[in-house]
Amino acid sequence: PETKTSRKHIAVLAFPFGTHAAPLLSFVRRISEAASDVKFSFFNTAQSNALLFSNGGEFERVKFHDVESGLPDGYVFNKSHPNEPVEYFLKATPGNFERAMEIVVAETGVEFSCLISDAFIWFAAEMAEKRRVPWIPLWTSASRSLLVHLDTDNLRERLGINGPGEQTLVFFPGFSSIRAMDLPEGTISGPLDEGVPVLLHKVGQILPKAAAVASNSFEEIDLPDVNTLMKSRLPNFLNIGPFTLTSPPPPDSDKYGCLEWLEKREKLSVAYISFGSMIQLPPPELTALAEALEASKTPFLWSFRGNPKEQLPPGFLQRTSAYGKVVPWAPQLKILEHSSVGVFVTHGGWNSILESIIGGVPMICRPFFGDQKLNERTLETVWGIGLGVEGRKFTKDGAIKALEVILCSEQGKIMREKIAVLKQLAFQAVESEGSSTANFKTVMEVITKT
Ligand code: UDP
Repeated sequence: PETKTSRKHIAVLAFPFGTHAAPLLSFVRRISEAASDVKFSFFNTAQSNALLFSNGGEFERVKFHDVESGLPDGYVFNKSHPNEPVEYFLKATPGNFERAMEIVVAETGVEFSCLISDAFIWFAAEMAEKRRVPWIPLWTSASRSLLVHLDTDNLRERLGINGPGEQTLVFFPGFSSIRAMDLPEGTISGPLDEGVPVLLHKVGQILPKAAAVASNSFEEIDLPDVNTLMKSRLPNFLNIGPFTLTSPPPPDSDKYGCLEWLEKREKLSVAYISFGSMIQLPPPELTALAEALEASKTPFLWSFRGNPKEQLPPGFLQRTSAYGKVVPWAPQLKILEHSSVGVFVTHGGWNSILESIIGGVPMICRPFFGDQKLNERTLETVWGIGLGVEGRKFTKDGAIKALEVILCSEQGKIMREKIAVLKQLAFQAVESEGSSTANFKTVMEVITKT
């Protein structure tokens, strides 16, 4: 049902790295469907805006505006400093957003009535305060990782800075199997004085100022302890996902024929491999994983960042062509929903985990940075729907063993049963009486009452 609103104009501020902007756009499209007279100005870097549109999306009532990326002219991406673009971007904020927003207000003659942002854009709190409008940040990962940032000072005190990595967070409700070494880097190591860790610390301090904090997750995935702790820290925290169910992105084209290829494979036989939109495995691990696939003759579909011909072992592509397929990009959600897929080899990005749950596919997780280690540990020890790899690095034997456990053993079958339960809970959360639907109504109340 449409909500009555008038001359509402919402500024949306994106974080243009990893898979952050896509869920933010899903959130905005959903609000736009629920309130047809609200207009949105979506502020993002040109590069990230271009990606959002690469599969032909055009969204009524959402207008896209580019903000400066902060990169110096002629900047060339440096593989050994992958975080450099983030640092340049953060230095350009908030001025880049402010300038673009002023232009839009001058052109349209309509002030903003609300600010929605990625939760990483913590300074949107001040921008909203200055305009006396509500701020609604979107947390694009699991509640658990947000709790860690809300409680960073507490965790630093309890665990010590750079304390032993093996100690568990027994004092933190719902975290008794999580170790210090599973926390995002910088949370309890080193000084909080620069880069993403300081940004996340700020996020944890400032989020309580938000009118509501939305999240791309669903309440039932978490233990009651975790939900209670979250409510005590952030009373207006609202799980409103999974977005892939509530406002699915426009379907990816399948130009490399992945789905047709899957049709020819046996049920639950295929390993789908993808480490998200950015990460490339280090060369020794690429070799180890390739050798494991070849030695075990596991059918595989690999969404490969980089150049497979140069980076995979010589002859690998030819030798495995009867049972393997390597593509530059894949329609991941459709793949994970396909009955031939038996395991997802992932980096543990939150969007990937949610999609795997929706597909009912257990995971082998090789985490890299940010929330990925915490996600990996949670899916292994709390949800029981996946495995980590020993030492968080692929070896040939380790990969063979993990594939075998999930594809061929009783343990794998139990994981599939557990993930089927979570899948059902995810679908229930977005039904008309579901928890995510109720929470979304609360978000809409904040938007419409302003
Ligand atoms: N994705 C995709 N096709 C690919 C690889 C990735 O559609 O070949 C999508 C995937 O469905 C997910 C996103 O990219 O929605 C990756 O998000 P995630 O949070 O897992 O990782 P990030 O990209 O932020 O590292």
